[in-house]
Amino acid sequence: MRKAERFRRFLDYFTTHFPEPQTELQYSNPYELIVAVVLSAQCTDKRVNLVMPELLRHFPTPAHLGAATAEEVYPFIRSVSYPNNKAKHLAGLGKMLMDEFGGEVPSTIEELQRLPGVGRKTANVVVSVIYNQPAMAVDTHVFRVSHRLGLVNRSSTTPLAVEKDLVRYTPETLIPKAHHWLILHGRYICVARQPKCAVCPLTDFCKYYAEHFGLSAPDGPGSLTEPKLPPSITDNDAAGTT
Ligand code: SF4
Repeated sequence: MRKAERFRRFLDYFTTHFPEPQTELQYSNPYELIVAVVLSAQCTDKRVNLVMPELLRHFPTPAHLGAATAEEVYPFIRSVSYPNNKAKHLAGLGKMLMDEFGGEVPSTIEELQRLPGVGRKTANVVVSVIYNQPAMAVDTHVFRVSHRLGLVNRSSTTPLAVEKDLVRYTPETLIPKAHHWLILHGRYICVARQPKCAVCPLTDFCKYYAEHFGLSAPDGPGSLTEPKLPPSITDNDAAGTT
């Protein structure tokens, strides 16, 4: 099956059955979203949603966060992964938002990536979710599911390469939604250790399914091993769940 056909079937399925996907992080403005996304690196959205209310009660705006030290932020985020680093990032992020961006969350990927704790994935999430721009954030779920489905090239072994493959075949207006579709499918069906193929609605065009369940491999031999997650996707920015 050609890649374009796989994309068409993937997009058709979700457009029909899940037309309005949303991030599972709870937020009510861009500041709250960027804080939540920074906290979500290598942590579950559920855990982040648990700590956010108390954190925001003490630091409700960039000005409050910018005036705080990492030591003052730490107690409110101690139950998320890597709390020391994230406390430093959040204190620095609040300060930079105040010093360089007038207390507003910037709207370009380049500006966002200057903020402490914000790499390409987080920046893509913010511009996609808040500003509805055609940015594809590649986290661990997007990386795994797009490879299993056969939406991206096997040689695309970095988040950036996967992002480029996905953007190339996805209509701009659907890119923000496709990001959520891949994440949610990876979180609930195409899970990392044992994908739930028995209940998956995408088996008729999934490359992994064809290869592992005895159907003819649609793209020929040599692709039976799942690509390894590159180290870069588990760094402090790239492995969150959004
Ligand atoms: S068929 Fe299996 S491997 Fe393919 S997307 Fe569904 S759960 Fe994942």
